[in-house]
Parts: sequence; C-alpha cells; structure tokens
Amino acid sequence: MTALAPRTGRIATTASPARLLVPQNPRTAVWHACATIVIWLTSLFVVALWVVGGGVTATIGFTAETLTTLGRLTGLVSANLLLYQVLLMARIPLFERGFGRDAMTRMHRFVGFWSFWLLAAHIVLLMLGYAATAAINPFVQLWQFVVDYPGMLLATAGTVLIVLVVVTSIRKARSKLRYESWHLLHLYAYLGVGLALPHQLWTGADFLSSPLATAYWWTLWAAAAASVVIFRIGMPLLKSARHGIRVTAVERDGDQGVTVRMSGRRLHRLGARAGQFFVWRFADGPGWTRGHPFSLSSAPASAGLSISARIAGDGTERLTRLRPGTRVLVEGPYGHMTGAARKGTKLLMIGAGAGVAPLVSLLEEQPYAPGDAMLITRDHAEGDALRLGAIGDLVAQRGIRFAPLPGPRSPGPSSWLPASHGAWRGAELIRHVAPDLDAYDVYLCGPIPWMASVEADLRDAGVAPDRIHSEAFTV
Ligand SMILES: Cc1cc2nc3c(=O)[nH]c(=O)nc-3n(C[C@H](O)[C@H](O)[C@H](O)COP(=O)(O)OP(=O)(O)OC[C@H]3O[C@@H](n4cnc5c(N)ncnc54)[C@H](O)[C@@H]3O)c2cc1C
Repeated sequence: MTALAPRTGRIATTASPARLLVPQNPRTAVWHACATIVIWLTSLFVVALWVVGGGVTATIGFTAETLTTLGRLTGLVSANLLLYQVLLMARIPLFERGFGRDAMTRMHRFVGFWSFWLLAAHIVLLMLGYAATAAINPFVQLWQFVVDYPGMLLATAGTVLIVLVVVTSIRKARSKLRYESWHLLHLYAYLGVGLALPHQLWTGADFLSSPLATAYWWTLWAAAAASVVIFRIGMPLLKSARHGIRVTAVERDGDQGVTVRMSGRRLHRLGARAGQFFVWRFADGPGWTRGHPFSLSSAPASAGLSISARIAGDGTERLTRLRPGTRVLVEGPYGHMTGAARKGTKLLMIGAGAGVAPLVSLLEEQPYAPGDAMLITRDHAEGDALRLGAIGDLVAQRGIRFAPLPGPRSPGPSSWLPASHGAWRGAELIRHVAPDLDAYDVYLCGPIPWMASVEADLRDAGVAPDRIHSEAFTV
C-alpha cells in the first residue's frame, strides 16, 4: 500500500521508462462522427421540408398565418426530437458507441427539454393562429382542436403523459421519488410519443404535402418502434439465451458490499471490455424484470464475469441472496471507459465507493510497467472498501501503487478528498502522486458531484480533457 500522508508526506514512485503507447480507438471516433451526422442531417431535412412547403414565405408580414406556420415548424422539430428521444434511449449501437452512456444521458435531458418546449410552443402558436383566422376565442379554438380534428384526442392524452414525465424529471421532483416509481413513470413517455404523433400523419399539412415527407416520417416512426423492440427486448433475450449465464458464487465484499461471480458459454463473444457495464437481471423470483446497471469488477474472461456492488437498497441487497445456478439476463456491454481511450503510458485511477469496481477490472486488463499505475480510492469508512483482495493481488503481482483515502469528506474546496487531507490542494496532490502528469491517463468513477470536484482539480493540475475518462454511477 502507498501511504499518502495527510499533509506534506512524500510517496516513493518507481521510475520506469515509458514503454507502451495505446492509441485512441479510431473506431469510436468514426461511430461518433456517424451518429452526429445522422442527427444533424435529419434535423436539417425536416426544416428543409418546411421551407419547401412555403414555410418562409408564409412568415413574411405578421399575420395569423405567420403564427400557424411557426406552429407547424415548432411541431415538426419537436416531433423529430421526440422520436430521437426514443432512438437515443433504445440502446442502438450507433449511438451507444458514438456517444457513450454519460453523454447520451446528458443529450437525452437536453433533447427532452427542447422537444417539450417546442411542443408547448406548437400548441400555443396553432391555437392563437387558428383562433385569429376564425376570429374566435383561443380556448374555444383549443377545444375544437381536441374534439373535432382527427387524432387530436389521442394527441391530448399523449401530451398529458409527456408533461407528467417532464415534471417528474425535474431534479427536485425526481429526488423525492423512488427510482423504480420514476422509471415506471418515465416509460409512459413511450406511450405519450406513440399517442401524440399520429395526429400529424392524419392532419399535418407538412406530412401529407409531399410523398418524400410522408416516407420520411413513416420511416422514422417505424425505425424508432423497431429499435425499441430489437435492441431493448430482442437482442438482450437472444444474447442471454446464447450465453446461458448463471451465478456461480456470491461473496461478501467489505462491510457493505457483495461480489457476484458468473459463468457462461463463449463469453468472449459478448465483446465486453474491462471498464464497461451491463444492465443485469437475475431470475431469482418476483421482481426479476427490474434491471440494474453494474460494471464488470474484474477483467472479463472466457471463464467468467463478476460484478461488485455497494448495498444501496432493495436491488443491491437482493444480490446478497442470489444462489449459485440462478439464470442471468444481460443487456450490454455498454460504456466508453475502456482501455481503448488511453493515450499515455501510465494510469491514475481515482474511484469513490463502488466506483472502484471498473477501475480494478481496467487495472487487471491494461498493460503498464510496475510502478506506472496508481489507484486512489475514497470511502466513508475503511471497512466500506470494495475489492480489497483483488487490489492486494494487483499490488503484489503488477506493482500498482495504492492509496486508500477513507474518512468523511473535506469541507475545503477539494471536497473529493477526506477531511484528513483537507490541507492539500487537490491539484497539488495530483501532481505529487503523478509528477510526470503528461504520461498519464486518468480514469474516474463515482457519484457525479464527487467526479466534478476531482475533474476541477485535474484541470487545475494541467491534465488535458482527452486524458480524463469517466463513468458516472448516477442516471
Ligand atoms: C453505468 C452505471 C454503472 C454502475 N455500476 C455499479 C457498480 O459496479 N457497483 C455498484 O455498487 N453500483 C453501480 N451502479 C449503481 C447501481 O446501479 C445502483 O446503486 C443500484 O441500481 C441501486 O439499486 P437499489 O435498488 O439497491 O437501490 P435504490 O435504493 O433503489 O437506489 C439507490 C440509488 O441508485 C439509483 N438506482 C436505483 N436503481 C437503478 C437502476 N436500475 N439504474 C440506475 N440507477 C439506479 C437510484 O437513483 C438511487 O439514487 C452503477 C450505475 C450506473 C448508472
């Protein structure tokens, strides 16, 4: 173990030549470019359809038609984004590999925000535009939309569901709900989108005006529905059946953790890498359909897979009661925090709580010279630490440097450090453990606010953003 002194202590580092340069995976860059191009091209295509349909000319001069035309445009872009919301969360390999889970979750929030406000603008603009043309009260017009126009009753029900999902996703409301309740409500978004969109195909001028537009929308619709069925249901079932994964052992791991080991057929064909995660379902009785994401906690091998969890609630507590032989269903592998992202020769791993799990698997898989990899862990109490056995093996067999930093968090600016190390500036501590910082890739895993604090110090220490690789354990 490497003692990291609370204030001014120095730690011995093994000087070793830089031997191995792992280039960034060019395939990830290609996936990213393809996914970005698809999103931009289709969004531009929708606006182009509106322009060709006379959209721009209709906005000249401020008349009732200006309102209805802008209402059409906001509706079109909102519909496009709503369908992308479904596609982004359908676990399509193009998006999964192109963006990675964390970026997709951020994008999902961003796209969801804009599709919702554009939907609201669409309703208000059309209500005002049609009411001005017919010279009636806008609310009378709204009522007429709902009862007289084809598909509008369904669209109204869909809009109510979308509003419900958006409201419960506001951070304050979200924190008051159990994850399971929030997730169940969130699934209503699929129904909301399904109900809200058909009115466009039945009544929308922009959908019916050109065969190209009609073909585009039906294709996007069919693609969204098929993606959900194929990638969220069909592929996981097929993969799970093909590999026949079963629990082989369940071990307590520290005072608050558990490690589950599994085996299966031809596991190398899962294509999993250290640092990645799966969504796991254990067929151990009622409630087994609820999937939980856990990272691989040791390098995946054809002989087996393992996960390690900190007991947080029902789902993780249930892991402790699994019996050998329990059938396992997997969705994945997902995640970008793999060795493919590496550019340097040395590794600095910083993990909090269960965040140590993927870092240990990376340390087991990745090549480095003795002394060239360092693992810093943060736990509230010493006994909470996970994977200590595997870390001990890495110290003894691979020569990693290990610095556990247990204890309550520091009240100072570097809140990722424990109070016992509050006298350190975070950036200074990072340069202390890794004086030749340019040779390092830094892998980070833990709760989002903790990671934000480490990242601020890493940037302060001079670590380039493309040398920081992270996965958040929060959704
Ligand atoms: C990409 C990723 C990888 C993860 N890897 C690990 C790991 O290797 N080891 C580990 O201990 N933990 C990991 N987690 C966290 C783990 O998924 C949650 O702690 C676990 O699902 C909690 O479930 P629970 O029913 O025991 O607790 P609950 O009391 O139900 O929830 C505790 C917290 O976990 C979150 N959570 C609950 N269920 C889920 C779910 N299905 N999906 C996402 N978040 C959920 C909730 O937001 C809640 O704040 C990971 C999370 C993510 C997003």
